[in-house]
Amino acid sequence: MAGKQHIDTALVNAGRSKRYTQGSVNSVIQRASSLVFESVEAKKRATAGRAQGELFYGRRGTLTHFSLQEAMCELEGGAGCALFPCGAAAVANSILAFVEQGDHVLMTNSAYEPSQDFCTRILAKLGVATGWFDPLIGAGIEALIQPNTRVVFLESPGSITMEVHDIPAIVQAVRRKAPQAIIMIDNTWSAGILFKALEFGIDISIQAGTKYLVGHSDAMIGTAVSNARGWDQLRENAYLMGQMVDADTAYVTSRGLRTLGVRLRQHQESSLKIAAWLAQQPQVARVNHPALPGSAGHEYWKRDFTGSSGLFSFILQQRLSDQQYAHFLDNFEHFSMAYSWGGFESLILANQPEEIAAIRPAGGVDFTGTLVRVHIGLENVDDLIADLAAGLQRIG
Ligand SMILES: *Cc1c(COP(=O)(O)O)cnc(C)c1O
Repeated sequence: MAGKQHIDTALVNAGRSKRYTQGSVNSVIQRASSLVFESVEAKKRATAGRAQGELFYGRRGTLTHFSLQEAMCELEGGAGCALFPCGAAAVANSILAFVEQGDHVLMTNSAYEPSQDFCTRILAKLGVATGWFDPLIGAGIEALIQPNTRVVFLESPGSITMEVHDIPAIVQAVRRKAPQAIIMIDNTWSAGILFKALEFGIDISIQAGTKYLVGHSDAMIGTAVSNARGWDQLRENAYLMGQMVDADTAYVTSRGLRTLGVRLRQHQESSLKIAAWLAQQPQVARVNHPALPGSAGHEYWKRDFTGSSGLFSFILQQRLSDQQYAHFLDNFEHFSMAYSWGGFESLILANQPEEIAAIRPAGGVDFTGTLVRVHIGLENVDDLIADLAAGLQRIG
């Protein structure tokens, strides 16, 4: 069935075979640590098939987990999907599965800050070095690859600054110079739907399912969909690290899939309208929205993605003073100030340029104004524009 159904149809159907639904519409919620074997023979069978969807022990998953894993594999075109308690765990454990002392990791300097910190604080302690590359490096990544480079870690668009990689150029260069390397991507922004990472030759597509998969800001989960090349090693490493998620969270993630297509379309439509409006405002110097010409890597987004989601940023002409900054952020009606994104609600955060520069190893920032990041939720778009217009008025 994989790849045959229209994505909207696949989102509705994926993971809903009779084995998992047992007569209802949704998969059953099977909460379990112990799974009971009927006989010695059954226990033998379960043990042999424990990595292939046989009920064995809670940490290997229950029917609820298998349903979600099967759905994710179908949607992202993978051989297997590992589940984690959050996105950060998915990133850390996916990298950890493939490195040992003396190895080298190459990571985009636009990666989510905790992903970077995992490399500099945890991997470094284990004797694994990290090199950084500019998100727009393209084929130039070849010069940074070392004989011991084992993992190349991408994130596109980049966190906060939203640069889109030239993925085919990067994948080609890595395969040529480091055929042993595993290429992985933090694919959270696309929800695994708008960018088909594995079809571009990437080995592992990671998501903070916390964001769009769950979609309602009420649960945390991480997913890592791997091709056949990486699956056995990823699965066994995650298992030995004790990585799993509870059945209830797996269930709400599967439920989130059913509406993901329509949610993403609305996030896209509203965010495009707001991004275009922002680009016209005199207080705004630049809009970092992958679907807008002029945004870094826009041409790669246009070539490789099938759409855009609801998260983007923009740069103000001026660097706000502390007082302006608070006055701007404290008084929105619809935009809440919070980390995370991907839920039904609109969110806003801001960073000063030096704060961004501090999390861009091997590359500074090319702007001097305050950066504002927004997640455009499902509220009426004109209400959101009015709220942002009032915010811009507040800074003069
Ligand atoms: C939120 C986020 C993560 C981490 O996910 P959690 O579920 O919060 O651990 C990883 N990558 C990106 C791009 C994110 O936005």
